[in-house]
Amino acid sequence: MYDIAIIGLGPAGATLARLLDKKYKVIAIDRKNSNDSKCCGGLLSPDAQKILAQFDICLSKEILVNPQIFSVKTIDLDNHIEKFYQRFYVNMNRAKFDKFLISLIPDKIEICNDTICMGIKKEDDASYCLELKTKGVKRIEKAKIIIGADGANSIVRNTFYKKYKIYRYISIQEWYEDDTNSPFYSCIFSKEITDSYSWTISKDNYLIIGGAFPEKDSNMRFEALKEKIKESGISLGKLVKREGCFVYLNKRFMSTCTGKDGVYLIGEAAGMISPSSLEGISYSMESAKKLAEIINGNFKNIEYKYYMSTLGIRIKIIFKILKMPFLYNKILRKLIMKSGIKTIKKYEIK
Ligand SMILES: Cc1cc2nc3c(=O)[nH]c(=O)nc-3n(C[C@H](O)[C@H](O)[C@H](O)COP(=O)(O)OP(=O)(O)OC[C@H]3O[C@@H](n4cnc5c(N)ncnc54)[C@H](O)[C@@H]3O)c2cc1C
Repeated sequence: MYDIAIIGLGPAGATLARLLDKKYKVIAIDRKNSNDSKCCGGLLSPDAQKILAQFDICLSKEILVNPQIFSVKTIDLDNHIEKFYQRFYVNMNRAKFDKFLISLIPDKIEICNDTICMGIKKEDDASYCLELKTKGVKRIEKAKIIIGADGANSIVRNTFYKKYKIYRYISIQEWYEDDTNSPFYSCIFSKEITDSYSWTISKDNYLIIGGAFPEKDSNMRFEALKEKIKESGISLGKLVKREGCFVYLNKRFMSTCTGKDGVYLIGEAAGMISPSSLEGISYSMESAKKLAEIINGNFKNIEYKYYMSTLGIRIKIIFKILKMPFLYNKILRKLIMKSGIKTIKKYEIK
């Protein structure tokens, strides 16, 4: 019997596993194998940088990629406006970042990679029974507390908290070889393509094109995005890889769920991701830190303490929801962009 089972070792699960008290017997499970990487923009926001600073964690240059970015070109295809805005992100390799966070987990924690959690059931003794599968081999493990750190489409959330409805979108990214030496970081808004947004990011010698799309017609929408990018004069190199995943779009005020009765959610599984920018790494590490602090006290009243301690995160998400019309409503976005607030005027060499 484990004290705690963590499902998922993204930034949320890896942070929690690192911070839990040594007195607990912990198992941490992830379906990823060493070659898998999360479909992600791989940009560390100032909030994520702040949490890393609080943890006194530095990133080696091997985790960073070229180029570092200081501005984003915002392309509004609905209103035919383009503006530049200053950005303070760190451009990094997401797969290496996740591996680095996992490498910080103490040896005492039992890590099971390449292991999928297929189901979770509550037992009569109030513990939980996990059905796991590693390379085709099934086994059962038991734990007193389950932590869902399993991202969007979380099995933990789907099993225990289905009533907390949350929009689920599909993210698709394609990586193209790019030897043009002209980095292109952009946010693209077009109602025709998606009611969320699309992007391009340069990473080492690749140009990534991606977007978050409603599940219906997601492939068609992605193809439409590529057409628009080509029409704008960007020529795409050789396609190197295509990746995709679900992403939670927390557009409702009540979609965040922290859990109860021995089953708790952290990170994106809890709905803790910015609905406006899809930035989520900071929320994942922050919620993991909050839950670790509470569990390390004792197992008493976790539900209430964790709910209250994440109030700040939920308020932040509410502000992001309120900000959404200014990004996604065509008329409001036009007004904001035309106003020139916070835009950068690019210096042109004559
Ligand atoms: C296309 C895209 C681009 C993004 N870009 C950025 C960005 O640039 N910056 C940023 O801050 N955020 C970004 N995000 C959001 C960010 O990726 C997530 O918010 C963040 O990864 C959430 O971390 P997490 O640990 O909660 O979940 P995840 O990182 O999703 O980790 C969940 C883990 O659980 C594992 N898992 C899932 N189900 C099971 C199961 N049944 N059994 C075992 N293991 C399981 C998965 O393998 C995975 O490792 C982006 C998201 C998308 C989709």
